[in-house]
Amino acid sequence: MYRTHTCGELRKSDAGKEITLAGWVQTIRKFGAITFIDLRDRYGITQLLFGEELNDQLSASPLGREFVLQVKGTVSERSNKNPNIPTGDIEVKIGSFKVLNKSVTPPFTIQDDTDGGDDLRMKFRYLDLRRNEVKKNIELRYSVNRAARNYLHEKNFMDIETPFLIKSTPEGARDFVVPSRMNAGQFYALPQSPQTFKQLLMVSGYDRYYQVVKCFRDEDLRADRQPEFTQIDCEMSFVEQDDILNMFEGMIKHIFQEVKGIEIKEKVQRMTWEDAMWNYGNDKPDIRFEMKIANLKSAFLKDGKIQATGELINNANFNVFDKAETVVAIAVPGIAEYSRKQTDELTEWVKRPQIGMQGLVYIKCAADGTYKSSVDKFYDSSRLEAIAKFAHARPGDMIFILAGAEERTRKAISELRLEMGQRLGFRKKDEFKLLWVLDFPLFEYSPDDNRWVARHHPFTAPKPDHIEIMINNNPVIENAAEYLKHPYSNIKANAYDMVLNGNEIGGGSIRIFQRDLQEKMFAALGMSKEESLHKFGFLLGAFEYGAPPHGGIAYGFDRLCAILGGSESIRDFIAFPKNNSGRDVMLDAPSTIDETQLEELSIQLRTQDLKF
Ligand code: ASP
Repeated sequence: MYRTHTCGELRKSDAGKEITLAGWVQTIRKFGAITFIDLRDRYGITQLLFGEELNDQLSASPLGREFVLQVKGTVSERSNKNPNIPTGDIEVKIGSFKVLNKSVTPPFTIQDDTDGGDDLRMKFRYLDLRRNEVKKNIELRYSVNRAARNYLHEKNFMDIETPFLIKSTPEGARDFVVPSRMNAGQFYALPQSPQTFKQLLMVSGYDRYYQVVKCFRDEDLRADRQPEFTQIDCEMSFVEQDDILNMFEGMIKHIFQEVKGIEIKEKVQRMTWEDAMWNYGNDKPDIRFEMKIANLKSAFLKDGKIQATGELINNANFNVFDKAETVVAIAVPGIAEYSRKQTDELTEWVKRPQIGMQGLVYIKCAADGTYKSSVDKFYDSSRLEAIAKFAHARPGDMIFILAGAEERTRKAISELRLEMGQRLGFRKKDEFKLLWVLDFPLFEYSPDDNRWVARHHPFTAPKPDHIEIMINNNPVIENAAEYLKHPYSNIKANAYDMVLNGNEIGGGSIRIFQRDLQEKMFAALGMSKEESLHKFGFLLGAFEYGAPPHGGIAYGFDRLCAILGGSESIRDFIAFPKNNSGRDVMLDAPSTIDETQLEELSIQLRTQDLKF
């Protein structure tokens, strides 16, 4: 037997026991004739005491960090206790030991505060995974996985695997493709999600499906994305939107309870996409704090019409506001005392290319009820007061105003709101606010192709009372500049996202389940009949054999784990992640393959002149 106990197990009550441990040498400390070794395994650290009588053996085969050691000895209570670790009351007095394997000196110290940089730790990820910090994350990931599975199992969901080698039907992100040796010149694609398969399973009658599944998307990697990532993917039959929201609200609450010990009693707040955009400038608002947008003037269509025409700011000869399509404000609590230097710094902040604004207008609402602003020349006190009232500012607040083109300005004010929330400590790590965002637009206008694209995916159903608009109107966009006036701009989808602290953690929709409506949808997206048959003939065919009404959702498992673990980075929660350029630096992948492999695949590279 290699061990009787783990390195995290022994307590004071075990004193006197003869035990065997096995693990890795974390540290070696010599005190005169005595040697202390901290032995580590997955479960913890135990202090070992090597007495003088073992010195000959120790010098004959010196130990080093990360050696794998088996020790036999007696548990004894420590005089010098360590309250920071669970085994801190005891140590093991070693009778004999055996080196099970040696280790070369590790490239970084395997401790909580390591001296290893990111790249080095990724290259030696198997060593990084030994570190407590990383292990904690991998454990959390497993507990989220288990909690989700338990909940879904209880609710009669069945885990059904779907294939990884499928057909390439890019719609959204780019596909990763795999050449087929047996079908020269043909390629499989790796699934961006099991979307069509889970819908086919509904046609097959498996009315509650789930899978914790890898998805593959060949996107240009923005920060904190991975080319392969994991979803908790689910689908249900005979459901309406409300059934799905309730079921999965339940799942997330269960996960919070099991993983964090947090009981969420209240119903998850629901907000329409329009309200989210209007009030927060963002379809995944962080509602841990208020600071809502005041729309002074805006081209945003809400409830089918333009709501903010600019009464409060018009006719002041202030060109910047007069010329702008959109003028939006936020009232930031308690910072009216900000110095010139501080407002200048924020002005620079909004001018950075990522935010792209021309400038920042401010109104200081002093505690004594007076107003001072960077536009005093154009607006007298009573007008400033009216704006302040509209922005729900209180004495002591500072109002920030941005002006420009609708989309960019709305995005910018949303970023500024988040930044101020961050700076002022309103985005607390240990506070969790869930939100459903509902009624997304069905279509999005793609200026590059001058056509409609599916905002979620092409299988998403329109709101029942919007189906007619889709059927009765021609999708062709005659006037690109006025696409907002096209009836398709107002079609809302039966789609929903779950948002946690400003992050989209899940999204899904009620699906189209009738062949003719699905064909109409493909046509609306500019697909010819042939193209839609070539790409999705299998699904259209399946819809003719009694497809039930159905809908589903998928959660971004990696991100959910990262948020629950209080981290910004999903990489920390993936055992073997890729770096920001999509490379696995441990394997050094992707890599070239040899000529014979290429030949077998009937592939000739067009990049012979590339230097590898
Ligand atoms: N397959 C979708 C996605 O990956 C989720 C869904 O609609 O269920 O975003």
